[in-house]
Amino acid sequence: MRRRTLSDLNFDFIGENRSENQVVHEVVTPQINIQPDLAAQIEQNRFFDLDVFIQETYEKSRDKNKDAIEKQMYMTSYDVASSCISNIIYKIRNTPIKSYANKWLPVVLRSYLGNSVHSFIQNNSKQFTEQEVSLKVPSIRFSGRLDCLVNNDVLVEIKSLPYSEYKKIIKNKTPRVNDFYQCLTYKYVLEQHLEEAKNHTEQTRSQKPLLDYYNIRYIQFIYVVHDIMSSDIESLDEALACVKHVKQVLNSKHNTFYFMSNLLIDLKQYDLTPYMNYITGKIQRVNYYLDNNLDVAKDDEYIDPKACFFCLYPQICPHK
Ligand code: SF4
Repeated sequence: MRRRTLSDLNFDFIGENRSENQVVHEVVTPQINIQPDLAAQIEQNRFFDLDVFIQETYEKSRDKNKDAIEKQMYMTSYDVASSCISNIIYKIRNTPIKSYANKWLPVVLRSYLGNSVHSFIQNNSKQFTEQEVSLKVPSIRFSGRLDCLVNNDVLVEIKSLPYSEYKKIIKNKTPRVNDFYQCLTYKYVLEQHLEEAKNHTEQTRSQKPLLDYYNIRYIQFIYVVHDIMSSDIESLDEALACVKHVKQVLNSKHNTFYFMSNLLIDLKQYDLTPYMNYITGKIQRVNYYLDNNLDVAKDDEYIDPKACFFCLYPQICPHK
């Protein structure tokens, strides 16, 4: 007997226009025993609607961001590495705005994918000596959480990203600059504020550092591709070509984990002074504005107009 294919079913997208000659498939309701009053509540012919889901995602992101900003008292490692200083001040002051929803909603899916990638690695490896380490330092209004440590000298950061960024990293063997700043921020806190990070009495969502001394010599990035979505990929063909290119660069014929790459950086080989000056200077500047109840100066070097597109504050911000 011939094996049936899906084309035998003559599938049709619900909601699309059908020509008169096409068969319209009847929706068959399974025979199940439901109490009459409950049955009356079940809507007939109701399906998952993508437009409704987009609206649901919009509302969820609005509520989640609002809640997070209302609770944010300190700057994060992401803020130090990547955020415009004005954005940080607006968030910590909980400056009200009209809408808190993400401007580019696919980022919500990315955050779920990113969390899954972290769990996949952290839950399946015994190579780390500490994971999800809370680094809270109230005296400098900093609160971060690093991914993993190996002993007292290797800091491991897991980063999930789209193919278009991954291909640059594996080609140039260089991390994304903001990722590097983020790890150096953890290094700075572990080495300069360890006592407070271990002994403060505020609540933390994960464990505090376990050791009494850290001297981070290596930063290791685990880069993992999570999707082909990216603003600079405009067609499925382009995306597939990008994936093919990545496999070629990694010579991945026998490597089924081509979607993961390690990048180990020996910090001893670099002069970190300008990077560390940027980090300490930014932390100090945020505290200066907050301690003195001042607005961000219009010529502040930590204002970053490149970040305006994703920022929630352009309607009220004079620096955009
Ligand atoms: S709108 Fe632009 S300049 Fe203003 S806080 Fe946001 S990112 Fe900074």
